[in-house]
Amino acid sequence: MQDLRTQCKISWCPGCTNFGILTAFTQAISELINEGKIRKEEIVITGGIGCAGKIVDYINVNSFEGLHGRALPLGIGIKLGNPNLKVIVFQGDGDTYNEGLEHFISAAKENPDVKLIVHDNSVFALTTGQHTFTTEPGFYSRSLGTFVFEKPLNPIALALVSGATFVARGYALWIDHLKYIIKEAILHKGFSFIEVLQPCITFHDLRSYYEKRMYKLEDIGHNPASFEEALKRSLEYDYTMSDNAKIPIGIFYKSERKTLEEGLEAKEWYKIERVLNKEILELTKV
Ligand code: SF4
Repeated sequence: MQDLRTQCKISWCPGCTNFGILTAFTQAISELINEGKIRKEEIVITGGIGCAGKIVDYINVNSFEGLHGRALPLGIGIKLGNPNLKVIVFQGDGDTYNEGLEHFISAAKENPDVKLIVHDNSVFALTTGQHTFTTEPGFYSRSLGTFVFEKPLNPIALALVSGATFVARGYALWIDHLKYIIKEAILHKGFSFIEVLQPCITFHDLRSYYEKRMYKLEDIGHNPASFEEALKRSLEYDYTMSDNAKIPIGIFYKSERKTLEEGLEAKEWYKIERVLNKEILELTKV
């Protein structure tokens, strides 16, 4: 664990729930390394812009911080350049569902073997409180200058209908449960999407709302192999923060199909690019 944390000073607000994601992730990869399932050297993480994206500074593995909403295509590019790498992308809800929505849908459709962890606090937090696509109606948004009136996006349902092969929801403060989901996502072959409910305690504190309404899919015998069942469960919570909501967390769906890398393997230009990449790597070895 010590090896996986950097000396970088953490600039999140004291008590921020992002600490829960940081702990769950470092525990998950630490266990996978100790179990001999992955090697530290082959892990690459990318981050977007916002409180979520800062996480890449705090984890001692290969990392790259990209542009707002573009950490996912950056991660896919890294994976295509070297398919032996384990690529994990960290983005916020603003990053993923606002700025980078087309990348999210493309990744679900194309199935690269890349993992996406979304810190969803339903607000642009770093810029102090503008609404995002998952903000509930009635929230006062500093960018609108009034209360949100739109219907929120349901990212779980969107991922499912876009073709994602691993779809899960976790909660930032249920660390053991989140660690279990992250381990499963990393071991899955194909695009893994984890939506993490991550309340921003400074600008949008939803902790008590979530904690009163969440339940684990494993506790009700949910079958993640069934697309129909996953879609039905995904529609149980619509992000409007209604009083009578029930919020399922856990693995909604898991299936296997050809990855983007496998699909491209037969293409001549892809083979040439891979050879060139290998040569560049050899030339830049110190
Ligand atoms: Fe965490 Fe919110 Fe502070 Fe960002 S603004 S560090 S999400 S508590």
